[in-house]
Amino acid sequence: MSYYRTVVEIWSDYPGTGVELEDLARAATCGDAICTRQESIEMEISECPEMEFFGYADGLECPDCRCGTLEEVGDELRCTGECGNTTSLVAS
Ligand SMILES: [Zn+2]
Repeated sequence: MSYYRTVVEIWSDYPGTGVELEDLARAATCGDAICTRQESIEMEISECPEMEFFGYADGLECPDCRCGTLEEVGDELRCTGECGNTTSLVAS
């Protein structure tokens, strides 16, 4: 399964951490801030251990039964624990 990691760089005369993302984006598009970088990289979930926030990646605890580990088998992730669930890594 592919995901896109997008990196956006916005320059503003105030710290960008205290504002909502949509306000920052609006400032960048209307000229109150400047967007100097917008890159999107397609990645396979299996290439990105940091993508564990999606809940499914090789080596993570199974989010379904929480007693097994997810293991990459072919183009699937399979739970080694009691549920044995599989998750396809191929976009459908
Ligand atoms: Zn499981």
